[in-house]
Amino acid sequence: MCVCSAEELKKSLEFAHKKKLPVFIFGGGSNLLFSDAGFRGLVIKNEISGMKFEKNLMQVGSGVPLAMIVMECARRNLKNLENFAGIPGTVGGAVVGNANGIGEAVSRVKILENGEVKIFKKKNLKFSYRYSNLRGKILTKIEFNLKKTDEDLQRKVAELAHEKFAKHPFEKTAGSWFKNPEGEQAWKLIDTAGCRGLKIGDAVVSEKHANFFQNAGKATAIDFLELEKMVAEKVFAKFGIRLEREVVAVPEN
Ligand SMILES: Cc1cc2nc3c(=O)[nH]c(=O)nc-3n(C[C@H](O)[C@H](O)[C@H](O)COP(=O)(O)OP(=O)(O)OC[C@H]3O[C@@H](n4cnc5c(N)ncnc54)[C@H](O)[C@@H]3O)c2cc1C
Repeated sequence: MCVCSAEELKKSLEFAHKKKLPVFIFGGGSNLLFSDAGFRGLVIKNEISGMKFEKNLMQVGSGVPLAMIVMECARRNLKNLENFAGIPGTVGGAVVGNANGIGEAVSRVKILENGEVKIFKKKNLKFSYRYSNLRGKILTKIEFNLKKTDEDLQRKVAELAHEKFAKHPFEKTAGSWFKNPEGEQAWKLIDTAGCRGLKIGDAVVSEKHANFFQNAGKATAIDFLELEKMVAEKVFAKFGIRLEREVVAVPEN
């Protein structure tokens, strides 16, 4: 089911509640691994839209693509979001997972809980590496704090996006598989442990970026989880470091 407004989201949640269905909120799907059995419940594809600028603030629907607000802010010479160029997915997904520290720029978040809209102000928001205290809540609107600038942001955004496209594989991947352990880079550990190009079924450790797993054909979720286990074991054997999954594995129910 796809929702384009907070009202539609509310109705879908009421429907799921009535039918006793578990709910999964799907943003851009760029960080997900679904179980091979699928998801026994209601998947809500979030396309809540809207973008409003007022002085140094921008309010945006949680289903808006992150790339769209990055470009729009750059076009208006508004600073603070340019570093998120080249990250796929929605604004809601980015804020929940604090993608590249985007939480820094957030001033307020609206969530929908038990049919009511609640507001999280900056002082109640907690963000750290790939973490926010919003996980498990349903975001409908996000407010960002921006700054007027004379910098050529459009150029910066284009350069950053270009760098990412050159560095990351963009086909059939959920992005970085593992979090970076403190003081380390997961891709370097994986590469040095000899895992680049490792394959189980059609799940492959990318040749382009060793922390990206790719689906080379008909990989199953099980293939990916076995590949994850093999890579984590090799890294642990070589460095004594336990890698932790970054990708969100969605259970069957
Ligand atoms: C090629 C590539 C490059 C990437 N580069 C980066 C990078 O540089 N830095 C980085 O941090 N990540 C990166 N990622 C990972 C991913 O793009 C980000 O984590 C992105 O922010 C996820 O957003 P999404 O909308 O796709 O979320 P999804 O994958 O759809 O969902 C991720 C999680 O967020 C939850 N969620 C989504 N929307 C909402 C909402 N409105 N309310 C509540 N929960 C919600 C979902 O339920 C799920 O638990 C990359 C991925 C790819 C494929």
